[in-house]
Amino acid sequence: MVTDGVRHAMRRAVCGLLDLLFPDECRICEQPLHEISRIPVCLYCLKQPQALDAEFFCRTCRTPFLNRYPLDETGQCSLCRLGLNGFDDVYSAGAYEGNLRKLIHLFKFEGVRPLARPLGNFLAQVLPREQRFDAIVPMPLHWRRRWQRGFNQSELLAREISRRWNVPLRSPVRRKKATVPQAGLTSAQRRKNVQGAFEVKRGPRLDGLSILLIDDVLTTGATASACARALKRGGAARVSLLTLARRDRRGGMDVQTNSLASAAGGS
Ligand SMILES: [Zn+2]
Ligand SMILES: [Zn+2]
Repeated sequence: MVTDGVRHAMRRAVCGLLDLLFPDECRICEQPLHEISRIPVCLYCLKQPQALDAEFFCRTCRTPFLNRYPLDETGQCSLCRLGLNGFDDVYSAGAYEGNLRKLIHLFKFEGVRPLARPLGNFLAQVLPREQRFDAIVPMPLHWRRRWQRGFNQSELLAREISRRWNVPLRSPVRRKKATVPQAGLTSAQRRKNVQGAFEVKRGPRLDGLSILLIDDVLTTGATASACARALKRGGAARVSLLTLARRDRRGGMDVQTNSLASAAGGS
């Protein structure tokens, strides 16, 4: 008969061994982890993020605004009205802050690849059920960036969506230009930075297809827009953008004014 004391000692020994193999606390809230998992994050921190809340937002790109002034009578922002956004609609799971931001960091920069599954789940939940797509396309990385990181985070996410919905995964565009990091650039500089960054690969055309483009974080949309335009050059009829997070720039500078200055030939 095994006494409580022996059982307790055995459990301690097993737990000690597991602590060596698995992290014992959540990498986000630092609470002890009770389940054995390849994901070092507790269930609480893996909850579906809250949708970005805004009273005013563009009906096409869903950019949030502080007031209705940047929107026209149809509810579109100036970038969408002028056709500067290459995508037709945008969905994001939440704002790029708090837990979602930390999860993306663990996934993308610390290489916690098993997070692709719960993050893919976040993505699947924000898309309206009635939406139908012919192909799922991950935002391509330049080969050098991909080689440095060892994986393309958008591709892991796109694979999850593709598997879940049984929609084919395709990679019809290539990132031919190793663009300088976009952080710290204005919206206009970002657009310039990604100009000509994408090209359509040789292969079957995308004629008439409705495409779901997957990316991790949406900032100004300049990169996603350039990629969406490349997909349309390849024949795509519609490009919807789905991202995990979106930076809420309402507290920052007026990015739309900057973009328009550049579109109009200003500097
Ligand atoms: Zn936690
Ligand atoms: Zn818009």
